[in-house]
Amino acid sequence: MTAPQELPGWRHVSSGKVRELYVPAGVDDVASASELLLVASDRVSAYDFALEPPIPGKGELLTRLSRFWFDRIADVPNHLVAPDTDGTPVPESVAARSMHVLPLAMFPVECVVRGYLVGSGWAEYRETQSVCGVPLPAGLSEGDRLPEPIYTPAYKAPQGEHDENISFEQTVELVGRDDAEALRERSLRVYGEAAAIALEHDVVIADTKFEFGRDTDGTIRIADEVLTSDSSRYWDARSGNRTDSFDKQIVRDWLSANWDRQGTPPVLPQEIVERTAARYAELIERLGA
Ligand code: ATP
Ligand code: MG
Repeated sequence: MTAPQELPGWRHVSSGKVRELYVPAGVDDVASASELLLVASDRVSAYDFALEPPIPGKGELLTRLSRFWFDRIADVPNHLVAPDTDGTPVPESVAARSMHVLPLAMFPVECVVRGYLVGSGWAEYRETQSVCGVPLPAGLSEGDRLPEPIYTPAYKAPQGEHDENISFEQTVELVGRDDAEALRERSLRVYGEAAAIALEHDVVIADTKFEFGRDTDGTIRIADEVLTSDSSRYWDARSGNRTDSFDKQIVRDWLSANWDRQGTPPVLPQEIVERTAARYAELIERLGA
């Protein structure tokens, strides 16, 4: 991984698998900051590894997707700092792939909503006819739409550890009943609204993950990236193949076929990088984002 870019007016404080976090120069840490800059890189991660090489343009495309959805779900407060607000200017060099945000006290819950049966949900259904404790009708097949979207939260483990699926009652223990219910209600609502908009563009949002936090006024805001192809599974509704996807499934499939999950993952071939970049661009075009 290359060293994080130096940005005038900002100080780099941490690197996630995909994004870089900055606080205003002169501020000690996130806790004492009144604004943050989240800069999306072109890195692609799978199975908890940042892979080589990056996907050119990915950071910018995913940032466009997040902004597109923040605009469309304007009834739910979000963490974006309005562009005309006084504050530390966002450097032009990263403007297209960064979000200027309010620092929030994040809830340690990954708010997952699933509208379709796929991935780990499908594997679990085959064994137990339920997903994360939610019972489902018999006879569903892989990729099927669920009778209604389900909320299957996960505990957001500290960096480096695996997130763990938890029941709704466990989220109540973590954050209290009122907040647990608010997170569930907002997650299902935003997913429902977004999935309907996407379908008008022949795109299925199979599932997604939201993160929320609380600002200093006590308002719960939707944070992080929203409905990007890193946080969601996007499928082509025009394709005969239900799971023909606009996300990094191409990367995951290539890795599964070419890596035994021991040691560091192999370098992605140019062809996989190009196909993935093209799929991300196609999604943006379809949605008009
Ligand atoms: P994680 O699993 O924690 O997301 P990651 O490697 O995917 O790890 P990135 O997504 O690259 O990390 O980094 C973004 C980090 O910033 C996340 O930990 C996310 O919870 C946090 N974050 C997003 N929005 C805000 C906000 N408004 N205030 C504080 N933290 C935020
Ligand atoms: Mg993340």
